[in-house]
Amino acid sequence: ILVPLIGLILAFWFYSGKEDFKPEMLKGKHVIVTGASSGIGEQMAYHLAHMGSHILITARTESRLQKVVARCLEMGAASAMYINGSMEDMMFAQSVVKKALELWGNLDMLILNHIGTSDFHYFDRDIAHVQKLLDINFLSYVAMTTAALPMLKNSGGSIVVVSSMAGKVGFPFVAPYSATKFALDGFFSSLRQEFVMRNTNISITLCILGLINTENAMKAVSEVYASSAAPKEECALEIIKGGALRQREVYYKYTPTKIPLLIRDWAPDLLDYFIRLKYNVGKQED
Ligand code: NDP
Repeated sequence: ILVPLIGLILAFWFYSGKEDFKPEMLKGKHVIVTGASSGIGEQMAYHLAHMGSHILITARTESRLQKVVARCLEMGAASAMYINGSMEDMMFAQSVVKKALELWGNLDMLILNHIGTSDFHYFDRDIAHVQKLLDINFLSYVAMTTAALPMLKNSGGSIVVVSSMAGKVGFPFVAPYSATKFALDGFFSSLRQEFVMRNTNISITLCILGLINTENAMKAVSEVYASSAAPKEECALEIIKGGALRQREVYYKYTPTKIPLLIRDWAPDLLDYFIRLKYNVGKQED
């Protein structure tokens, strides 16, 4: 039974890698990018601008969003707008989608990328922080998706959810963050199944990222976590490609082997051990 199964997996892998990405796929498309005032989201906005998309970006810091919008217009965006506010507020999350409806009456791609600030340390038992992070990193994704469904159904559009290896495997020092990313996997994997069952032509792409060299990530992990970081510009492009090609998942810098996930299912203690080896911390008693 193992041989046909492996054959099937290889055939599927071969087939799914076949379709080519072309930047024209995004030309004239209407795209929302959240968390686009910095990091990977900002880079996604620039790629989309270069490809000639209509872009609506969001985050809290208005001055940064204004700069990103100005640069997007210089780079050739069909149009670029921003709306600023906090994703702690579900009314704001929904209002971003409403703005797209007012501006365009249409939406092709919803890229959910923002995250709330969280420190990189032992879990400090701060329940309020876990609650806040669940609102920002998870519930607002659900609120935006729910609001965007009618437009995405009309366009046969795509939802792109930016997640992390910490949403597939347990990493120390990110317990609240990790919980929000596992929640995204559960919610959007279930929703994907329902889309298939109901013939809803909306794709869902979950992006599993390793360490990326954004300013905030580098600041958070420096001196504690020893791993090389992949470039945010390339990462941003891979996410957009995955969404445009309607891929189920994008693994950035873990492609093609996904070895950590194979080890996770067969030897989880071994994987945990390898992960802990990357942490430069002395043993501390609780
Ligand atoms: P950044 O910290 O660089 O950017 C986060 C974005 O979210 C900013 O635009 C920020 O803008 C916005 N944001 C923060 N708080 C809020 C809030 N309350 N409401 C609305 N927007 C908010 O993140 P990265 O670019 O590093 O990460 C992007 C995505 O990639 C995330 O989903 C992350 O989990 C994932 N990822 C990143 C990795 C990495 O190593 N960088 C590794 C694995 C996954 P502002 O402060 O102006 O609101």
